[in-house]
Amino acid sequence: MSDCIFCRIAAGEIPAKKLYEDEHVLAFHDINPVAPVHFLVIPKLHVPSMGELGAEHVELMGRVMTTAARLARENGCGEGYRTIINTGRVGRQEVYHLHVHILGGPEVLPAMLKR
Ligand code: AMP
Ligand code: ZN
Repeated sequence: MSDCIFCRIAAGEIPAKKLYEDEHVLAFHDINPVAPVHFLVIPKLHVPSMGELGAEHVELMGRVMTTAARLARENGCGEGYRTIINTGRVGRQEVYHLHVHILGGPEVLPAMLKR
């Protein structure tokens, strides 16, 4: 997916502040952080959004989520953090390559959604 920005980051064509990388998963700092800790964890496989996940992605998403949990622990989020996956138009997804946001303190984060 040469026109996908996160595929291009995974391919090393666009620079990113990488936190972790293996054969299946990549984590990097969000370019526009909205909390003191704000990084993204992606599968290297191009899956456009959570809406396209299926049984074939069970192991891959297990890797993504356990990597996110480990990196949160290792990056100062021992007292908690927020995990966000925006999906589609209603979810205000901007980049259509599935990604997990990890957002952390040290202060308590704002309420999740305004009522
Ligand atoms: P969303 O699709 O709404 O979950 O948000 C996409 C996120 O990707 C935003 O928080 C952006 O700041 C972030 N982002 C976009 N381009 C880059 C990039 N080149 N490197 C790091 N983060 C990015
Ligand atoms: Zn992609």
